[in-house]
Amino acid sequence: MPPLDFDAARNRMVRDQLEARNISDPAVLRAMRTVPRHQFVPTEMQQYAYNDSALPIGLEQTISQPYIVAYMLEQLAFTGSEDVLEIGTGSGYLTALLCELAGHVISVERHQQLAERAGQHLDKLNCSNVEILVGDGSQGLPDMAPFDVIVVSAAAPSIPRVLMTQLSDQGRMILPVGDQDRQYLEKVVRAGSSWHVEQLMQVVFVPLLGKHGFIEQPQKHKHKRRA
Ligand code: SAH
Repeated sequence: MPPLDFDAARNRMVRDQLEARNISDPAVLRAMRTVPRHQFVPTEMQQYAYNDSALPIGLEQTISQPYIVAYMLEQLAFTGSEDVLEIGTGSGYLTALLCELAGHVISVERHQQLAERAGQHLDKLNCSNVEILVGDGSQGLPDMAPFDVIVVSAAAPSIPRVLMTQLSDQGRMILPVGDQDRQYLEKVVRAGSSWHVEQLMQVVFVPLLGKHGFIEQPQKHKHKRRA
């Protein structure tokens, strides 16, 4: 089998999945053409990296569908200098895109293993304007606030108030809000002491687990204990 031409596949993805669906922010399109999505998925998934879908990345987590990622980024209207908080690093793919679009990025992931792997991928791409922290991102990072942009890549039952207060004036946040099966992307824009909330499209994300997310269910026992 000939080697896959990832660059060609990525350019096709941008044309057929993003531009064809009216993603038009030149900075977003440039970032999506630049960041090699295949480097953020497990080797056996690389051939599907530019498909129009989310993909598994281990530990029951997923890398989001390219179109949803581009849509979220376009909604955030980056100017290039933003301080960003990302919650749910996952594979680090969105983190790499944020590094292209913003000034500085802090990304929080609750799974140490995913955080480490994402850090290695970002190092390989020489992303130098990023820090990855391990912990419960649902509480935000009050000591490091305010943030011009907050992106949450996991579904919350409601908009965590604590994150709204960590936005700078004119800061914007995007996150999926709903139950564990389906949600709406919501965009929050802060103007001084008021917040404007807009409901965008319907989506399906993995749950945000933590203090201001869903409660983590205890693991079911795989084997019944014998009496
Ligand atoms: N945008 C990511 C996809 C992330 S999937 C990508 O491009 O790959 C959502 C991630 O959120 C998962 O890795 C999950 O472990 C993480 N997550 C869930 N709850 C969290 C919390 N409270 N704090 C930090 N990370 C969380």
